[in-house]
Amino acid sequence: MNFSMKMESKFYMQKFINKAIFLDRDGTLIAGASLKKRKAPGYVSSIREIKILPGALQALKLFQQTGYLLVVVTNQSAVARGFFTEKYLQRINRHLQKQFARHGIILKKIYYCPHYPPPVAGQAEGIVKRYRRKCRCRKPEPGLLLKAKKEFGLNLKKSVMVGDSLRDIGAGRRAGTKTVLVLTGQGRKTLKNLSRKEREKIDLIAPTLLKTTRWIKKLSTK
Ligand SMILES: [Mg+2]
Ligand SMILES: [Zn+2]
Repeated sequence: MNFSMKMESKFYMQKFINKAIFLDRDGTLIAGASLKKRKAPGYVSSIREIKILPGALQALKLFQQTGYLLVVVTNQSAVARGFFTEKYLQRINRHLQKQFARHGIILKKIYYCPHYPPPVAGQAEGIVKRYRRKCRCRKPEPGLLLKAKKEFGLNLKKSVMVGDSLRDIGAGRRAGTKTVLVLTGQGRKTLKNLSRKEREKIDLIAPTLLKTTRWIKKLSTK
């Protein structure tokens, strides 16, 4: 089988999969951007800035082989802040999908939230009006995961949300998935700020995405 036939049959087989690994994008799949950069501080704002984290390709390959759809769910309030357009965000995301596809990995869909809630008094400046809204898709709201559930007929109880921030964990919990905190990106900071009780509610805390694969494989057999 050549590469494109392989990808096609993968796409076909995926029609029968009803569980997903939901992946946060920045800090989980790719490196987050520096807060110190001049343009769009804290946001990946160009294709050149995409840096896939070590082990992420291998991890996703294993998830895929284990029988999960791979779905990315990402907050991108940079759009609301006017750092770049929604169109441009889509371009970055498409590029990311292509990079993974080169390794035989299908990122089924990248769902994003471009919004930013109406700021408290005095902070309204700089937020693009179109995107200024209290939405249901900005994590920790579960909207992005619920959209995916609808689109792909997913069983959320059998699915897992993986991310480096408490918003990711919150979104997963509200949607009814298992939750995994990775210590890449903001992960260590996130962990430090959690009470013991909060930590215990997270199903798995792992140093990297690759270190979650054994746990996820085990989970898939349950
Ligand atoms: Mg993140
Ligand atoms: Zn939103």
